[in-house]
Order: sequence, then structure tokens, then C-alpha cells
Amino acid sequence: SPVMEKILRRRSLHLRNQQQNWQESPEGQKMQQFRRSLPANKEREALLAAISQHQVVVISGETGCGKTTQLPQYILESEIDAARGASCSIICTQPRRISAMSVSERVAAERGEKLGESVGYKVRLEGIKGRDTRLLFCTTGVLLRRLLVDRNLKGVSHVIVDEIHERGMNEDFLLIVLKDLLPHRPDLRLILMSATLNAELFSSYFGGAPMLHIPGFTYPVRSHFLENILEITGHRLTPYNQIDDYGQEKMWKMQKQAAFRKRKSQIASVVEDALEAADFREYGSRTRESLLCWNPDSIGFNLIESVLCHICRKERSGAVLVFMTGWDDINSLKDQLQANPLLGDPSKVLLLACHGSMASSEQRLIFDKPPDGVRKIVLATNMAETSITINDVVFVVDCGKAKETSYDALNNTPCLLPTWISKASARQRRGRAGRVQPGECYHLYPRCVYDVFADYQLPELLRTPLQSLCLQIKSLRLGTISEFLSRALQSPEHLSVQNAIEYLKVIGALDEREELTILGRHLSMLPVEPKLGKMLIYGAIFSCLDPILTVVAGLSVRDPFLMPFDKKDLADAARSQFSCQDYSDHLALVRAYNGWKDAERDYSGYEYCWKNFLSAQTLKAIDSLRKQFFFLLKDTGLVDEENHMCNKWSRDENLVRAVICAGLYPGISSVVNKEKSIALKTMEDGQVMLYSNSVNGREAKIPYPWLVFNEKVKVNSVFLRDSTGVSDSVLLLFGGNISQGGLDGHLKMLGGYLEFFMKPDLASTYLSLKRELDELIQS
Ligand code: ADP
Ligand code: MG
Repeated sequence: SPVMEKILRRRSLHLRNQQQNWQESPEGQKMQQFRRSLPANKEREALLAAISQHQVVVISGETGCGKTTQLPQYILESEIDAARGASCSIICTQPRRISAMSVSERVAAERGEKLGESVGYKVRLEGIKGRDTRLLFCTTGVLLRRLLVDRNLKGVSHVIVDEIHERGMNEDFLLIVLKDLLPHRPDLRLILMSATLNAELFSSYFGGAPMLHIPGFTYPVRSHFLENILEITGHRLTPYNQIDDYGQEKMWKMQKQAAFRKRKSQIASVVEDALEAADFREYGSRTRESLLCWNPDSIGFNLIESVLCHICRKERSGAVLVFMTGWDDINSLKDQLQANPLLGDPSKVLLLACHGSMASSEQRLIFDKPPDGVRKIVLATNMAETSITINDVVFVVDCGKAKETSYDALNNTPCLLPTWISKASARQRRGRAGRVQPGECYHLYPRCVYDVFADYQLPELLRTPLQSLCLQIKSLRLGTISEFLSRALQSPEHLSVQNAIEYLKVIGALDEREELTILGRHLSMLPVEPKLGKMLIYGAIFSCLDPILTVVAGLSVRDPFLMPFDKKDLADAARSQFSCQDYSDHLALVRAYNGWKDAERDYSGYEYCWKNFLSAQTLKAIDSLRKQFFFLLKDTGLVDEENHMCNKWSRDENLVRAVICAGLYPGISSVVNKEKSIALKTMEDGQVMLYSNSVNGREAKIPYPWLVFNEKVKVNSVFLRDSTGVSDSVLLLFGGNISQGGLDGHLKMLGGYLEFFMKPDLASTYLSLKRELDELIQS
């Protein structure tokens, strides 16, 4: 209406005045000067012209050239200058919530404003945005959720998808949805931004969209691998011999020197093993897999520490950027470093963690140049690879690992497993050291491990199981799963899509027509693998949540039981002692965790871990994940506020066993006790074996007819990593999917098993159980 138009016009003029006033102010001038120095500035007009002429544009450029902070601003400024400010609406997505928050704050500051004026942000459960917010930074998940209720993105003029080179599942997912939207919204502009040069792929996906590149410059960086690092630092090993000096004496002194030396030699053997692998590689005696199994977790901290000591004491000035895998690690290392006198005068070291929850004052410290003579050390996750840029970094320490994100369209997912990075990531990390002068990069792994890194990380869509994604597609009502996925940038294989659908049917998340069941709907709201989600839901429903939280967290992180090479028997014995003859690795984990919690209360957590060959770091990770899972369940309304009811039956181990079975089914093998051995069989693999460190692997007999397992690994034969014994009736009642075809349908499905394993007698067990149940239901 004319009135509306008049209001818009007035607001637009107001915005233009405001912008001009800021740009002419002394501070504004200074900011403009900095902004003009960025490489992106030279391309400003070309970028804006391309965006106005084409519906889709792909932009690439070296990290730090000004894509994220500048490009959305260029668009905003030019709209405001053209007196269209009040009617434009720009959305810029970020793969991580931290970058959405920190970038929006930076851009607001560059515009001389507070957050919530023309610039705002929105991440899950949080956000700052006002009536006049025209440029919104949000996570990809937030935009996907908006699309759920606002299919046409009404009122949005520009969508900028940042960091597409990361090829996260959410981003690939979003691109399919946006590609569908473009013909319906000819006025909408889509801009894709990426750090590395794989622009062609994206361009051709959008029918040959124009590509623009922002040229940049970096200095050369020298690489050091583990071999030289051990030489450079002068430590055959890390400064374990000085450990008493810095704060961990409580833990170690109790163990006396002997135990100490044992631990040291364990670590030495890990390092030596890796180095030996380097020499042996030519003979082909080690496969890529066995190299990638080399796990530096146990030496990582101390190695990082000794590299940092070396830099602080021997190297020229310049900031240090340390890449680690997660916040837990960052915090523990920060504590450890703060107590370390070897880093030199504490007033000369500025130790910063690059953190999701960091205050903006601390955030500023990360970007600012420290006072002369002060060494800035920033501990960061792989978000410092491309999404944030710290200019004065000269030294990079690369632990070689990153946590691979798991799928999350609607929720903020915990990132779970640290895995080796790709060569491209390692290069990117190294490049962070050369922004202002030539730099040094310390890779904390042997050269030979680098050589077997993948060139690029596989797109998440092709590397993670599709089960969760399929649930999301259904819950967003995007049509047939396989049709939808066939339109992705790189489609997953047909077979893996079919497998995922089949699996979801078996566990009862999808019905015969591939529609979500009630269970499926609940699972789609939990950002964990469906089997773990199902276990959580059953744990809540059957009121035995505490142990189930531990089991699920344990399965998501990794086994907290250590496996030292030279003390295998002792370690296995320590593990067995938690099994208490109940034939379950999962219940053993629950006991170990509970024992650790008790010990923590008496401040003897480390001693407990030491005695029992447990990793305190892993137990801590499990602990924090348990809390996250509990909040998730609370969020979805499956448990009550107070956590009273949901633990009514937590001490009933048979019930816990049944819930574990509900989650892990169809991961199931039959058990036949023979004279001298135990024969195990699964439907797909036939004969299988148990890992020797499974508590069941040490038993001569297993008095359960079935084992459920989470993971099997194919080496020469197929091995079950973890297992829990379950009885016939538990399998009948909890395995599979009673809710769907009713008990009869369930029997039909199980019939396959019964026949295969030649246990027709189970049918009668089943029938009598069914009769009892029917009677129960009747009454
Ligand atoms: P790109 O997205 O191309 O990697 P950015 O737009 O994130 O680049 O950053 C451009 C420049 O702005 C970098 O040189 C960086 O140092 C600077 N910068 C980014 N965020 C901040 C901040 N919060 N404080 C100070 N400088 C920043
Ligand atoms: Mg960026």
C-alpha cells in the first residue's frame, strides 16, 4: 500500500543517513581504512555487479580475505545506499554457532553499531535481532528449520551460504532445498562462499553459475613432523620427568615412581611404534588402516606441551595457534599449561581458549596483537581452520585430528569422534601460520601418517550413516527419501540409502509405506544415531535412565578402558572385574563409570582410573555427554524435570539389559556353547568371534542364548567389539518392532531368526508369553 511504501522509504533514508554518519566519523574512518585493506575490497564492485545480474554466484578466496565479514556487508551497504535498506533482508548461514555469533558481533562493530540493530544473529535457543535487523547470521540448522514453516523464505532478498567447502551434511541438504526454491522465487539471490578452489562443483550444480575468486597472498610455512619434533624439542619424550613440578603430584605421587616409569614406557612404546611404522612402510608390512589406528590421544597433551615449551623458550616472537579436537581437551590442556613453569614467566604468556562460550572481551584478545614481549597462545578447534582468522599467528601446532560432526538438521549436535584430518585440512592448518611473515607448523604425527591421510575429507553426506538424515527428510516432509537424495550435489549410493530405509523399518521408525511412526518422530527429534536414540527413549519409558545414559554416552565417545601393549593381561583383568559375571560389556562400563563417579567425590578419580586402566579423559567426556543427553530428553518431554521417576528401575540389571537389547537390535548373534569354545553366528556374516578384550571374550561359557552388540569389525574374520548377553524372552519382547505389525508381525519377522538359528522351541516360549501379555492387557 502507498502508506506502507512511504514508511519503508522513510526508514530506508534513515538507514542511509545513519550509515553515512558512521562512515564519516573518525572511528568510522579508521574502520573503513582497515576494511579497505582487505583483499575482498578490490573486488567489491565486481562482486556486487555479479550478484545483481545473476541469481546464483559462487565466490572463493583465501581464508581471511574478507568473505564472511565483508561480502554480506557490501550487499547491505549497497542496498542502503540505494535507499532500499528497509526492504532488503540478507541471511548468511554459518556451519557453527560460534562463528555465527562472533561474526555478527564483528560486523556490527565494523558498522559502528550494537548487535540487534541492522546486524543480528540466531542460533538454536539463542539470538539477538531487532525490528531493523537486515543482515542475519545464523546456523545452517536455523535456516533449515525456518524453511520448515516458511517454504518460500518470504521477504528474504539474499541467502549467503558460507563455508560450503566443508561439505557438511546440513549444507548439502540446504542446497537441495534452495535449488528447489529458486524457480519459485526469481527475485531471491543465492551466494555460495568457499575457502578453497572447488568452485566448479558448486557452479555446475547450479547450472553454470558464475564463479568469482578473490586473490590473496600468504608467506611460506615450514612443516615439522613428529620425527623432527622429538629432535627439536630435545625430549626423547615429553617432560614427564618434571611432572611433579606442576600440579599433578596428587595423582602421581600416590602411584610412586615405579608405576610412573611403567606409564612412561607405555607412552614411549606408542611413539616408537609410530616411528617404527615409518621405517616399515616400504616393506608394506603396515596397512593404511593400521597406521590410522595409531592413536596419539594418550601422548597428545604432553607432546603439545613440550612443543609449546620449545617455542616459548627457543623461537622468535609470534602468536601460536594450537589445533585440538574439542573443548574438553582445550580446557584441560589450558589448566595443565597454566601450571607449567617451563613456559616461562607467566606474565609473558597470554593463554587463550577459542571457545563457544567465550566472553566478547576474551574474544577480542584472540584477535588483538598482545603487548610486546608477550607470547599469545590460542587453543582452538578446527573452527580456526577456516571460519576465524587470527592475523599474527606465526606458529601452528596441529594435533592431526578433528571431531567429525554428526548430522543435525534441527538440533545442535554433540560432535563425537575425533578422527584424522585430510591432507587439505592439514594444509589449511599450516597456512594459518603464514599470514604476516614466514611461519612454522608442527604436525604432531609422523610423516608416514600424513602420507596416508585422505586428500580431501569426504562430504559428510557420503561418510555418515544415512539413517538420521532419512528421518529428517521424512520429518521435514520433503517427499520420497531416495528421490530427494538423488538430487544432492553428490548423491549417496542407492544401496546405502536402501540400507538406511530398511534399517529404519526394522527398528520401527518407518512403517511399510516409508512414513514416520511415532517412534520415528521421536527419534527424528533426538540428534543421535537412531539406535542410541531408541535406547534413550526406552530407558526413559522403562525408568532406568541412569545406566542407559552411561551406555549411550559410552557408545558415542569410545571405550574408556585403556589397552596398553605391554600390560594387556592386567588391563583385561581389570575390565573383567567390572563384569561381575553378568556377561555384558555395557553393564561393565556402567559399573566402571559409577565407581569413577564415587571416586571423584572423594577426590581420588585419578587413582581409581590408574588402578583400573581407565582413561579419565574419556570418562569425563562420557560424563558431559550424559548431561547433554539428559537435557535433550528433557527438551523433548520424555523425562520429567526432576529426574525422579526416570530412575525407578535403574538398579534392575535385567531391565537395563532388555533396554540395551531394544537399542542394539538387529545387532544380534546367537550363542552355542561347545566343549572347548563358544560358537557365535550372525545372520549376515555366519561365524563371528569376540574381541579378546570384551568381557565375554574371556569367558569359557556364556549362559545366554543371544548376544546383542553395537559394533562389529571385519579383519580376517568378523569380530564383535562389545556385547551383552540376553535371554530368549528379552529378545522376543524387546528386539525389533512390536509396535508395528503387532506381536504377530513381530513373530513373523523373528521367524526368520528362529529358523535360521534352528530354535523352533522359541516359538512356544513366545506363544506363552504372548498369552500372558494378552491377559495382562485385557485386565
Ligand atoms: P574470510 O571469511 O574470507 O575467511 P573474514 O571476513 O572472516 O575472512 O575476515 C577478514 C579479516 O577480518 C581477517 O583478516 C580478520 O583478521 C579480520 N577479522 C575478522 N573477525 C575479526 C574480529 N572479531 N576482530 C578483529 N578482526 C577480525
Ligand atoms: Mg569466512
